[in-house]
Formats: sequence, C-alpha cells, structure tokens
Amino acid sequence: PVHRTAEVQAARMKLPILAEEQAIVEAINENPVVILAGETGSGKTTQVPQFLYEAGYAANGKIIGVTEPRRVAATSMANRVAEEMNLHDGQVGYQIRFEGNVKDNTRIKFMTDGVLLKASCFFKQIWEVQKDFLLNNYSVVIIDEAHERSVYSDILLGLLSRIVMLRQKRGNPLKLVIMSATLRVEDFTDNQRLFKTKPVVIQVEARQFPVSVHFNKRTAFEDYVEESYRKVCKIHRQLPDGGILVFLTGQQEVNALCRKLRQMFPGVKRTEKSKPTETATSKPEDIPIISDQEEDEDMEKVLAKIKTKQQNMKKRSRKEVDQQVKINLDHYSALPLQEQEQDHDDNLGDLMDSDEELDINDEQSEALSQSQTAPPLWVLPLYSLLPSYRQQKVFAPPPEGSRLCVVATNVAETSLTIPNVRYVVDTGRVKTKFFDKVTGVSAFHVTWTSQAAANQRAGRAGRTGPGHCYRLYSSAVFNDEFEKFSLPDIARRPIDDLVLQMKSMDIEKVIHFPFPTPPDIKQLYAAERRLLLLNALEPPPRNIRLKQSQEWTSKITPLGRAMAAYPLAPRYAKMLLLSQQHDLLQLTITLVSALSVQELVLDQPADSEPGNTHRRWLGQRRSWAGTGQSLFLGDPMVLLRAVGAAEYSGDIEAFCSTNGIRSKALREVRKLRVQLTNETNLIIPSGTASIVVDPRMAPPTELQAKLLRQILMAGLPDHVAKRIDPNEIKETEDRRKYKYAYRCPEMEDPVFLNPSSILRYSHPEWIVYQDIYEHDDKIYLRGITAIEP
Ligand code: ADP
Ligand code: MG
Repeated sequence: PVHRTAEVQAARMKLPILAEEQAIVEAINENPVVILAGETGSGKTTQVPQFLYEAGYAANGKIIGVTEPRRVAATSMANRVAEEMNLHDGQVGYQIRFEGNVKDNTRIKFMTDGVLLKASCFFKQIWEVQKDFLLNNYSVVIIDEAHERSVYSDILLGLLSRIVMLRQKRGNPLKLVIMSATLRVEDFTDNQRLFKTKPVVIQVEARQFPVSVHFNKRTAFEDYVEESYRKVCKIHRQLPDGGILVFLTGQQEVNALCRKLRQMFPGVKRTEKSKPTETATSKPEDIPIISDQEEDEDMEKVLAKIKTKQQNMKKRSRKEVDQQVKINLDHYSALPLQEQEQDHDDNLGDLMDSDEELDINDEQSEALSQSQTAPPLWVLPLYSLLPSYRQQKVFAPPPEGSRLCVVATNVAETSLTIPNVRYVVDTGRVKTKFFDKVTGVSAFHVTWTSQAAANQRAGRAGRTGPGHCYRLYSSAVFNDEFEKFSLPDIARRPIDDLVLQMKSMDIEKVIHFPFPTPPDIKQLYAAERRLLLLNALEPPPRNIRLKQSQEWTSKITPLGRAMAAYPLAPRYAKMLLLSQQHDLLQLTITLVSALSVQELVLDQPADSEPGNTHRRWLGQRRSWAGTGQSLFLGDPMVLLRAVGAAEYSGDIEAFCSTNGIRSKALREVRKLRVQLTNETNLIIPSGTASIVVDPRMAPPTELQAKLLRQILMAGLPDHVAKRIDPNEIKETEDRRKYKYAYRCPEMEDPVFLNPSSILRYSHPEWIVYQDIYEHDDKIYLRGITAIEP
C-alpha cells in the first residue's frame, strides 16, 4: 500500500485523470496495447505509473517502465512520483544517458527513450528470432509523449509492437501503454503494419478553460526576444493576477530575457538594498540566481515588509489596474482558440483601441517602472539543461505579492505543466535540427513551430481558469507559414543515416520494420544499396541474384559500425574514418564542413569594384586549385584553399569580399569545424592524440592531396562519371551541346560540369562528384574531383 501525505492526496484529487483510474487500469488489464490521450497537465505522466503500481504491475520484482523523449522529463517526473508516493528508498528511479539512480529494488523506472531502445536492442531481430529475453523484467512499458515523435520513441514503438506479440505467445504478457497529448493518434491507431488489431484509445477529458488567442498585427521577425520582453512588461503592469509563461527557443535567449525582466521588475532583495536603476547599472550582467533556501526565506521576509508598506496603496492600484485594462494591450485581433463559449471574467482581448503611446522603448520603461509601482515579478528560467533543483522552482507558488513569470523553451509545451499560468506569450519559434542534404552534418536553426504546437502552447494558459495567449506573429503568418503538424523526426533524418543507425542497433530488417510513419520503401532499398557499396553492410552471398537480393537483409560490417558513430551521412563518416589513418582529419573535417555550407565560394564576385572582374576572379580561383595532384582534387581544393586563405588573411571581411567568398558562410564553416572536431575527438580511439581546429591550417601537400582524392573516391563510389567521348555523339547531333558532358550511373541523360567548376579547365575523363542538381533543364554535377587517368 502507498502512504501519501494529505497534501499530495489533495493535489491528486484535483487531477482529471483520477476519475478515470478504474477505466484505465481495466483497459490495460484487458488489452495488450492501450493509447491514452489527454490534455497536458491532466496527470498522465505522474499518475498512470502509480495506478499501475497499485494495480500490482510492480509485483514479483517486475518493473513499470516509462520512457520520455527529454531528459528533463525523465528526472523530474521520477522525483515527483517518488515524492507523491512517499517512496524514498529507490523504488522510483530514473536512468538517462550518463546518469541515474536506479537500484535493484526499483519498481517504477523513468528513462529516456534512447536508454530503453539500447536495452531492447540486445535482442537481435526481435520480431523473428526466438530469444528468451524480451524485456522480461518489465510488466508494462509506457511510451510517454508519443506525439513528440522522436526517432527513438518511433523505433521503440515498432519494436515493442512485436515484443508484445511474442510475450503474449509465451504466456508472459507485456503491456504497452502509449501516452500522448491530444493530437494525431491516427498514426498509431490506423497503422495495420504496426498494430494488427486497432489499439484501445482512452481519451482523458480534462477541463480546459477557454483561451483567447491574440495575434500581433505585425510579426516580430528578428527581435522576438525584445518583443516578448515588451509584452511581458505590459501584461505585468496592466493585467490582473496570474502567471505568465513565455516560449523562447533556447537557453541563451531564456537567460537574456530573465535578466532583463529582473532588472525591470527587481526582486525584492534588490529593492531593499538599492534603487532598481542603481542595481541595473552596477551589475548589468548579473543573473540573480536564488539558489538556496536561505535566500528564498529572505525573499519572503522582505516581501512581507513590502506588502505591509504597500497595503493601502494596493487597494487603490487595484482599481487603477482595472481601468488600465481598458487600454488595449497591443495591436491584436482576437480569435478564440476553441469553439467554446467564453466565460471571461474580463474582456482583455476584445479591446481594440490603439496603444501607440504604450509602445515604449527601454529607457522610457525604466522611468515608468519607478513611477508605477508594479508588484515584483518572480522570474524563473526553464530549459532542459537547468539543474533540476532549479527546475523544481516553477512548481512552487511565487512569493506572496509577486507574480510568477516562467521563461521557457518548449519543454513547457507538453513535458512539464506549470501551475496557475494564465498568460502565454508565444514567439512561435522553435529550435529545430536540420541535416545537410549532402553531408548529413546537422545544425540547429530557429524556425516557426507548427500550428499544432502553437495551439498546445496556447492551451497552457487555460489549465486553471480562462486565459490569454499572445502570439508575437500575425494570423497570416500562422496560417500561411506554419505547418499543420511538425514532421516526425524520423522523416527529417537523412535515410542512409537512419538505416545505418538501425542496423547498428542490430535491427536488420529495416525495410520491413513497422515504423509508425514509414519512410518511402524505394528510398529504403536505395539506402541499403548505397550502404552496401560503401561496405557498411555485408554483401548478399554470390548465389543470390539481384532480384532476390531485395529480400536479403544485410548485417552491418565492423566498418559500418564505426561509421554509425559519426553524426554524418555515412559516406562522409567513412571519409573521416579513412582520413584518421592518414593524419588527415583536420583537412577532411574542414572539407566536410565547407561542403555542408551552401555557396561558400560565390559564382560571381560579391562586389563590382573596377578591376574585380569575373575573369580575374576566376583566375584567382584557378590559382587556388593548384596544379599536379592538387588540381585533381578539383573543386574540393578550391573550398579548402578558400577557407584556409580567408582564415589566414587577418581581415576576413575584406578578404572575402574581394575574393567572392561569403563571409557568413565562412563563419558557419568555422562553427561546423569546431563541432565536428569535438565530436570526432569523442569518437576516435583513446590514446590517439586529439585534434584541434587550427585556423591557420596549411593547404594540403601534393601527397596529402593525393590521399584526399582517394578518400573522396572511397566515400563516393556510386558518384562516378565519365566524360562523353566525341565519337559517341551521333553525326546528326550538335556537338557543341556536349561540351562538358558526362555520363553517370544515376541518370540516363548526360550531366554537365557545373559552370563554376574548376575542372572545366582540364575536363578530365573520369570524375567523382558530391551531388547533382538541375538548372534550366540541364543537369549539373557539383563538387567535382578528378580521378587520375
Ligand atoms: P500530464 O502528463 O498529463 O501532462 P502531469 O502528470 O505531468 O500531467 O502533471 C500533473 C500535475 O502535476 C500538473 O498540475 C503539474 O503541475 C503537477 N506536477 C508535476 N510535477 C510536479 C512537481 N515536481 N511539483 C509539483 N507539481 C508537479
Ligand atoms: Mg506528461
């Protein structure tokens, strides 16, 4: 039996999911797979594991497993559940990649989806080979936040769908529970490959109060952090009580906004010691971190003092606030999020008067803060890497007399529910990982989030009462530029890499894998073929003919396994591996980085200074390409030299503009070099000297150029092209059409050397290329290296 405190009991009773306990447990008892969809904050993550514990799923040493796509959710939910259940002896634990507190007696185990995936992949070819151990320690696995569609949880779902069937056959059933916010469960329910019989869906009805959504008339394109600052200031000064939740994209932005807000509405501690402006000037960079109990208590005492001081004033200002409400908050158009009737206790969103006079800049607002005594703002950051004791602060009520303002990344979208939020400020942005199409190098970029995600964010304002969501973008942008749903991560990842990663987890039948959202099967076949050519997979035995080979499932080779460790497209991973053997890592890393950035070297000089003619510039490019072995390296040599010379020049901007190099691209290349170097240092065998990023890297010697060419060829075995022999061309055809024409295996029609390729000078017979593109009905090759005749 579980002994919960009265306080916890009371908090639990308020959660909508508690009314469904019996229905949920029964559904899980009677069905192998249950989908549980419910609004964020309804209590899925914290309560369902407890229901199952009390229903006996942790009996006989069995484990209730819960996976989370985010580390922060795994740790913080484990702590919360332990707290609620009053179990502090390790029975509730967590395991994330490099950290955990799981013990032998752990009965409820929270983990990241990656951790469970690694565990289940010990069992090779799970859905086919007869193996004894199929997560046998677990009685139930809960895949939480399945709507996030992380690669790992998608693959886990595929694996578990098969494990569940096998365990059922053995009379030792494993239960699978898929929990998600209320969106797009059809990908799981209507996928016959994944689940032959449609899983049971339980919808947890949570009371969601109406949220009025207010769009900005104008979209803040660049300065959305600044815009969110202004918005929070206005809300805090003018609107009634209630927490504010701001969505930004990353830790730096979050900290910057917290700092600004704390300066504007200083914590009580500082008001006590000095006037806010003085504090602001004396310690501009200081982020006030209230890190321990003492300081918190301090804060409360001071607040109490202030409260008494302000008591009389407060009554008055309350009236003023009500009047101020009549001033429009911004250039909004109001639009209710749901069709529900709005039972507002206020009508903030409907006020459409102009508030130009309130569009104030920083200095003015400083002045304002001194004249208008706004109550203190209790500003808390929230992002994944924040230490967990600081994350926990968002769950506690703010000190009396102050308003809570949580500045968060999208961890607050569905992973963590912050109580008493009434105002959401949504920048509409999210940090997304993008993969370079050719090299597979990944980088994070800030983009628009999806409509579904924006609506989730808005919903955060309506958990405890009617709320407001202020979107810092226009409804036109929302309608025209936001995707309806975010793509599953698996669909964003380059396919060769996905196949290799899965093979490295010993999932051999990737082509027939029951993906929740399957990739195109033709692409999967093509990816396997490419991996075979790279020797990353074992070839089918000789006696299997080409047609049958489609049924052949290849195992990964040791080379393939090593390649899979690199965060790169397999062919570039192979190049790095090979260059490691020849001390060429620095050069190869620079090359791969340069290839991952679009248009590093422009086809035209950037400025049209007299004398800086196209011809002169091409000549320069030619001199960069060098002669002898260097020229065989061709276009990659131009890139290497461009990076090296620009970094060496001292005045990068000047050098770039006179040499037709995009300086922004160059900075990007430098960033990628650092990133790839760090990642490579983690992968290369210990004992090997670690590599450094040297901006003054010398260009390759003749021997190095020769080795680099071999490395490029090894990575591009399927990207070989041969010059079209003039004798091949029919008499009737116009020979000029075949200038720079090549044949390659991928295309029936001839392909052409890119107009800015340095190899137009030598026009070699055999070449390898990075990629193919189409322009004006002609197909061109790019990134060309000559193969020695
Ligand atoms: P769901 O998974 O359905 O989104 P949760 O189980 O995460 O819901 O949250 C249920 C409730 O528990 C929310 O009101 C949330 O604020 C509260 N809660 C979660 N973690 C904590 C915590 N560490 N301290 C206090 N309350 C918490
Ligand atoms: Mg949850």
